[in-house]
Amino acid sequence: MPQYDRPSTLTLKCIDLSFEGLGVCKDNGRVIFVEEMFPGDEAQVEIVYQRAGSLFGRVTKLLKASPDRIEPKCKVCSSCGGCEFQKYAYKAQLAYKQKKVVEQFRKIGHMDVEALPTIGMEDPYFYRNKIQVPFGCDSKGNVYCGFYKQNTHVIVPIEKCFIEDERAEPILKAMRYLMKSMRIEPFDEDSGEGVIRYALIKTSKFFHDVMLVLVTGVDSFASRNNFVHALVEQCPEITTVVQNINSRHTNVILGDRTKILYGKGFIRDTLCGVNFRISAKSFYQTNPIMTEILYNTAMDFAKLTPDDVVFDAYSGIGTIGMIAAKRCKKAISVEIVPEAVHDAIANARENNITNFVSYADDASDYITRMARVNDHIDVLFMDPPRKGSDQKFLDAVIKLEPSRIVYVSCDPTTLARDVAYLNQSYKVGKIQPVDLFPQTFHVETVVQLELRKR
Ligand code: SAH
Repeated sequence: MPQYDRPSTLTLKCIDLSFEGLGVCKDNGRVIFVEEMFPGDEAQVEIVYQRAGSLFGRVTKLLKASPDRIEPKCKVCSSCGGCEFQKYAYKAQLAYKQKKVVEQFRKIGHMDVEALPTIGMEDPYFYRNKIQVPFGCDSKGNVYCGFYKQNTHVIVPIEKCFIEDERAEPILKAMRYLMKSMRIEPFDEDSGEGVIRYALIKTSKFFHDVMLVLVTGVDSFASRNNFVHALVEQCPEITTVVQNINSRHTNVILGDRTKILYGKGFIRDTLCGVNFRISAKSFYQTNPIMTEILYNTAMDFAKLTPDDVVFDAYSGIGTIGMIAAKRCKKAISVEIVPEAVHDAIANARENNITNFVSYADDASDYITRMARVNDHIDVLFMDPPRKGSDQKFLDAVIKLEPSRIVYVSCDPTTLARDVAYLNQSYKVGKIQPVDLFPQTFHVETVVQLELRKR
């Protein structure tokens, strides 16, 4: 085995991309993962660190470019870390995502499956409807904001981001200016001093609604009302301002408490013909154009009939359940965040959807109770967070025997694990990757499962 005395530089050829979008190279049989290196690239690579027996490197000189290497739109994409694939042709990104889903099924689920080609965006930029940025300040009192450099707490200042909704940029600019002039300092986690930790901006695709959430390290601060007033005056596109208080030493962005400072405290949006209200703490998919495609795929895979009883687990503000309710007898949704359930109930009322109910509960607890009393479900939609579902949930599903399951997932690893478990009772139908996250290595996937005939 070769030794790598740091710093060592090697000439390497990239042969593949890893699960996390890193270039995979080999040197005498040893695998080296390289940031921003793409299949076909040849480069001089400096080994930067070693972790869990793997070597990680970065390109110091590109010797031959992959045919899929392109000029990035964003100047800071290499240091920001938010977009691993700005330098990788979009067509190649989509092919990578399809392959990645199949590979995770093979590696994690030990299943041989085929996935449909990834559905991509016509224009894969400026799609994000949710932007969250931390604030910092230099020694001259100039306020900056941006994104954390990957795996650090260092803020890479960003003036223009090519994946977020363009309405965010002028708001962040006004915040930087007003914070400096009104002496409202960014919050410093270590000293506990200052005020503003993050700005979270949520935009509506369908309406002109824009929500600004000021995440503060403190409860109240001097000139708060003047600040909000000035912000709204400078940025009339803001329709509501909410303060969220998060004084804890944590990576989690939002704290428990929110106060409405201006407007209604939520934005509205429309998906698949249903209107939704979304408040500060409720989950809402971040790419509205592709979300419609995702949900239409999910509905298509579910083959709903007017007699079906549908269960929507991990339901957020009830989007999938409510869209399904229009095509079935009854939809029950369960979600753990009470604010999201509150939104879901209001959403159903506003849309006159009377065959939909939403409960605030842990999905596993709820479905286990359903299984205990032998409740009946025809179709299960499940859309868990990245960590996937758990065995308790899956065991209850197997007991309840819904005839069809549509699994929507943002992480192919946990998806493959859970589907492999369900495979004892369910056979896998179509697998459709959908690109909700262009320019990044992330992929959303919809899987169709059908109960095996006994
Ligand atoms: N289906 C929704 C939300 C998907 S995101 C949509 O498409 O918008 C996953 C959701 O699962 C989040 O809203 C999260 O709050 C919720 N969640 C996480 N853990 C949960 C649990 N144990 N039980 C129920 N819901 C949970």
